[in-house]
Amino acid sequence: MMMVMLEAQQFYHIATFGCQANVSDSERVAGVLELAGYYRAQNEEQADVLVYNTCSVRQSAEDRVFGRNKRFKELRAQKPHLKVVLTGCMMHHKAHVLKNRLPEVDIFLPIRDLMHLPEKLGTHIQEKPEEYLSFTPQYGSAFRAYVPISFGCNNFCTFCIVPFSRGREYSRPAAEILSEVRTLAEKGYKEIWLLGQNVNSYGITELAQKTVWDNKTRMGSKPKIQESRMTFADLLRQVNAIPGDFWIRFTSPHPKDFSDDLIAAIAECEKMQPYINLPVQSGNNDILKRMNRTYTREHYIELVKKIRAKNPGIAISTDTIVGFPSETEEQFQNTLALYKEIGFDMAFISEYSRREKTAAALAFADDVPREIKKERRERLTDVLRTSALARNKTLVGTVARVLVDEQKNGRFFGKTPGNKTVALKNVKHSVSNKTRPVIGEFVNVKITGAESWKLVGEIVGVK
Ligand code: SF4
Repeated sequence: MMMVMLEAQQFYHIATFGCQANVSDSERVAGVLELAGYYRAQNEEQADVLVYNTCSVRQSAEDRVFGRNKRFKELRAQKPHLKVVLTGCMMHHKAHVLKNRLPEVDIFLPIRDLMHLPEKLGTHIQEKPEEYLSFTPQYGSAFRAYVPISFGCNNFCTFCIVPFSRGREYSRPAAEILSEVRTLAEKGYKEIWLLGQNVNSYGITELAQKTVWDNKTRMGSKPKIQESRMTFADLLRQVNAIPGDFWIRFTSPHPKDFSDDLIAAIAECEKMQPYINLPVQSGNNDILKRMNRTYTREHYIELVKKIRAKNPGIAISTDTIVGFPSETEEQFQNTLALYKEIGFDMAFISEYSRREKTAAALAFADDVPREIKKERRERLTDVLRTSALARNKTLVGTVARVLVDEQKNGRFFGKTPGNKTVALKNVKHSVSNKTRPVIGEFVNVKITGAESWKLVGEIVGVK
């Protein structure tokens, strides 16, 4: 695709909130703006176009953005031609709500309409793909990339805003995904995440994309199930077959769609790293039913057993909501017990946050007091702290291949194959090329210590 020249040099800045899907979307927004001739700004003040890519998963995330209207006004006072663009999950709000609460925003843009951003800014691009995921992104990292394989969700978990903010699930054509991964591998990327709201239902809507893409039917049409669809397990195998020295990870799978074939593919694919985030949400069957998760605690426990049997040593993390409407102490104890039984490596535990439009908000009162939610989160975190420490201790004395990904206050950090953070020690004294860490490169690390939330290790060689 050809880049357009603007009359004067103009800059963009993107503020990204929320999950990896938004990080990935922002990379595509950057790709489009650069095609339209804009340059990346150093900060908000330098920007001629300011994009806010928003998150709706919790009320507090939305409140932070609603609170920025004053800031947009201040920036415009410095730069009257400033254009403020809002995209991302907050687009689920009705137009009048957004306009009333964010009057300084010029353009409200559903991310799926990204191809129309240049013309809304008064410029243009030479070629416009039909779907926004087909734009070439400007990756934010030179070694870790997020590759979206699907968009939206059909599951309607009762607490979740995603089916409203992103619409029905749509799978990206496999050829396009494979081509993106091939390009990343050729550029030397080391870690590639396959992304989707429900990554392991990949393929269901691939050939039905035209139907679900239509503006009028975006929220309402049911995708047709195709006979000859490519499953996520097969996609994983094809990504794994791409030449290159890179790691594969994916997020997030749904327990109901985790097939035996996928478990086998994870074991077969040598580039697939031994880490899975498998959201459980609750350990109580009645709460799971009220959440519309469509599996039971027994199914979940059995699934973890099957995954571990085929993939010994695999690290498993989870997502859990505490204080879901009507959750009793006894029901919460089922979640505590499930955590003890599974022994998670890590977990993302959140207190229930009522999201307008969702079935839970319409049908159930948010009746668990805030202090009880907080106390349950802390008790569950205590159980996690114990299991994470026990799991991490088993790694002490082993040598792991680690991807160095951060330098903070003079210290280097990296990620193990199990996606655990490892702090690298004695780096300052390493003068040989064999033990000098470089961000974005692999090193071999002997694990010398374990805490609940991180490991400590010493570099024993590169690659
Ligand atoms: S699977 Fe459930 S929690 Fe995940 S995005 Fe879809 S509706 Fe939300």
